Amino acid sequence: MVQGSMGRRPAIGLYRATDIILGAGATCEMHIHAINLPRFVVVGPNVLPKVTDIMTRLNVKGGVLLVSGESYTRAPADRVEESIANMGLKVMRLTAKDATEQTVCEVEQAACESKSTMVIAVGGGKSIDVAKMASNKQNLPFISIPTSAAHDGIASPIASVKSTSGSVSVMAQPPMALIADTEIIGGAPRRFLISGCGDIIAKYTAVRDWALAHRLRGDYYGEYAASLALMSAELVTEDIDLIARGLDMGIHAVIEGLISCGYAMCIAGSSRPCSGSEHLFAHALDKIGAGRAMHGEKCGVGTIMMMYLHGGDWKSVKEVLAKVGAPTTAKQLGVTDQQLIDALCLSHTIRPDRYTVLGEKGISPEAAWDLARITGVIC
Ligand SMILES: [Zn+2]
Repeated sequence: MVQGSMGRRPAIGLYRATDIILGAGATCEMHIHAINLPRFVVVGPNVLPKVTDIMTRLNVKGGVLLVSGESYTRAPADRVEESIANMGLKVMRLTAKDATEQTVCEVEQAACESKSTMVIAVGGGKSIDVAKMASNKQNLPFISIPTSAAHDGIASPIASVKSTSGSVSVMAQPPMALIADTEIIGGAPRRFLISGCGDIIAKYTAVRDWALAHRLRGDYYGEYAASLALMSAELVTEDIDLIARGLDMGIHAVIEGLISCGYAMCIAGSSRPCSGSEHLFAHALDKIGAGRAMHGEKCGVGTIMMMYLHGGDWKSVKEVLAKVGAPTTAKQLGVTDQQLIDALCLSHTIRPDRYTVLGEKGISPEAAWDLARITGVIC
């Protein structure tokens, strides 16, 4: 029986981490690995006002650019604005309508014009992605205040934005601080949390792909980052009943899992521990414009199929996703059987530098049909 997470591991509170530089001062032959981590992480109910404590501790003096979404993220953004304004700091507001390069430019311009010394994003994926990328380009610190737990970008150094040539994920910077208010996140549509579960479960195959690339091609592989990503997937699996029931401890488990995944990417210096063949499949679906499923929902279905290719326990992956109400079939993703097969066959071309179980030549249409039918993704 699955037990709650809160009793056996400490909840994340306000704590400090530092930049860690391994190999500094070593001889030039030695590999130097720099790790940039968030400095403050606060998770819990009604922690939104903590933004002022954090800003005081960060010694923020100048103006602040506050980026939020268009809909329900505006209310928590209003509260953040009021708190910061009460500190006597000037706040400039900007609404991110999408996560495109154009919006990143607008955020950069607004930060320059307002002479902001910090960028804060209150919202889901779009606001956080554009604020993360724009602040990195302008060399400004960034605070992430997620209003949903839909994906692991809330704490990661990676930003995903749309360009004219499609979606790109680029290395930006991790947030200087992260404030995850469980009251706000718990009030977001349930589908967001389900997507977050899918994005965490995806680490089962992402880590396998990473280890495979290391063994076959000598790619850099970090045991610590891989273990951290894997642990997030294992803990969410253990807590899946709590998550399915919508209990606070379940919401905590997903948020902490997403934050741990962000740390894994910070430690690895890339998205490698968190993004493998299952993410390539999700991006392939995006590329062919199939369905309107959320990122983590697509990754979850990808994990079922890629786990089969790895020879792993794909049935358990499917069972866990089904328990929380996540899609496990093409139909539930809102894509046709043919679109799913096309995406599978396209996956290996999405990011050729990222070696996965799909290999360099990918999967044949015949094998893709077999894979989808055997795993029950296509009935
Ligand atoms: Zn993801």
